[in-house]
Amino acid sequence: MQKSNAFVDVLKNIRELVGAEFYSDSLEDRLCYSYDATIEEALPDAIVSPGATEDIARIMKWANEAKMPVIPRGAGTGLSGGSVPVKGGLVMILTRLNRILEINEADFYMVVEPGVITNTINEVMAKKGFMYPPDPASMKTSTIGGNVAENAGGLRGLKYGVTKNYVMALEVVTPTGEIIKTGTHTVKTATGYNLTQLFVGSEGTLGVITKITLKFIPAPEHKESMMAIFKDMNQAAQTVADIIKSGVVPATLEFLDHITINAVEDFERIGLPRDADALLLIETDGMKEAAIREIASVEEICKKNDAFKTQKAKTEKEREIVWAARRVAFSALARVRPTTILEDATVPRSRIPDMVRGVNQIARKYNIMIGNFGHAGDGNLHPTILTDERDKEEFARVEKAIEEIFDLALKLDGTLSGEHGIGYSKAKFLENEVGKDGLAVMKRVKDALDPNGILNPGKMSL
Ligand SMILES: Cc1cc2nc3c(=O)[nH]c(=O)nc-3n(C[C@H](O)[C@H](O)[C@H](O)COP(=O)(O)OP(=O)(O)OC[C@H]3O[C@@H](n4cnc5c(N)ncnc54)[C@H](O)[C@@H]3O)c2cc1C
Repeated sequence: MQKSNAFVDVLKNIRELVGAEFYSDSLEDRLCYSYDATIEEALPDAIVSPGATEDIARIMKWANEAKMPVIPRGAGTGLSGGSVPVKGGLVMILTRLNRILEINEADFYMVVEPGVITNTINEVMAKKGFMYPPDPASMKTSTIGGNVAENAGGLRGLKYGVTKNYVMALEVVTPTGEIIKTGTHTVKTATGYNLTQLFVGSEGTLGVITKITLKFIPAPEHKESMMAIFKDMNQAAQTVADIIKSGVVPATLEFLDHITINAVEDFERIGLPRDADALLLIETDGMKEAAIREIASVEEICKKNDAFKTQKAKTEKEREIVWAARRVAFSALARVRPTTILEDATVPRSRIPDMVRGVNQIARKYNIMIGNFGHAGDGNLHPTILTDERDKEEFARVEKAIEEIFDLALKLDGTLSGEHGIGYSKAKFLENEVGKDGLAVMKRVKDALDPNGILNPGKMSL
């Protein structure tokens, strides 16, 4: 593909600024950065990997003058096409900015660069007896910058919340090249607009995040984990609703359906019950006595809903095996058919049984395979469509099914995305949720910060 002439000079300047080692416009490299974890793909004109905020600011100024698209990118694990350069331009990889700059144990915050891998933060904090709770299943690969840009959730979201609940302050390079600071290192602030939360979840469309201040908390004293196995998916869905209603707030309450259980078992062979229709993975944590009492209440609720087996993890190794099963669910499902489309439409928690039943009906109606798993405790399931995009007739049925899944979630008072964002894949559905006027306000915010529309264009209908 021919590089746009208007960009040639700018790209030459950028190459000189960062050095040849950190710039490429070879076809091989452009191909490598034309994907994320969805089925979307588009070639960029070039790739840059800057090593300093000031360089990013220079690049943004040049790009803005030349009206050249810039697409921020972390690890490329996104599930909505967010880092795919759908309008060409420059992919800006943020993984060179990968230092933990400060850990302040007196005030319970840390300052990190966006390229730090999420799991590194988890491990560093765990060694010190603290916890950074957001734990996306992709955390061994995803970057904290990508997590902030997507407002990533994780397995502990039910009790501890998601990324936005832990971001205190940011350093951001605007699309026009200014370096701004948002937020504070204080527990409270009521100073000006909450720009920090404007950038959280902005999917790389409003600014390049170059520094992040994250809150952390003391690690819980004790954890109890259990698995509950059900012959009927409806029983499992009802159990989730009953646990929430009971007032117990598990740290984690995850759901795997029959298709997912078998895909995981084919992949890892860890001894999950292949004949189960659904299983719940549940963890309580906190003070030892409280965690034990809570898991006992949860077990009782599972039994009342006719779980045919409940099994508590007796050792840390058993516990890790159970959670490993959940973390590989997506990768295991992805092996079943050539194309995997993972959705994350989310509903109020009491509507989980309706959502599970509705998704199964949609799968039957369109005669397609949908594995279902996810963060049942916070209403965030991941209906995962297993298909083959080369089969045009089947894929047309898949597209109709996806539309119906979104319609169902909205009808149940839910949302299009609980944690993966809108990106490119769901852009055309955004107006269904936020309305014409809501979308117009989002566009005005975008125009105010990015008058030339150069930062991650084509995403979120902006
Ligand atoms: C197997 C698997 C499991 C997953 N599990 C979960 C899960 O449990 N929970 C969850 O929430 N997500 C999950 N995801 C999705 C994905 O990992 C998250 O969205 C993650 O936050 C993306 O991080 P990344 O570094 O890969 O970002 P990328 O995919 O590179 O980028 C994502 C978006 O962020 C923007 N961006 C990246 N860095 C910056 C920056 N520094 N400044 C501004 N914008 C930026 C990009 O432009 C893009 O729009 C999963 C993905 C996979 C493949």
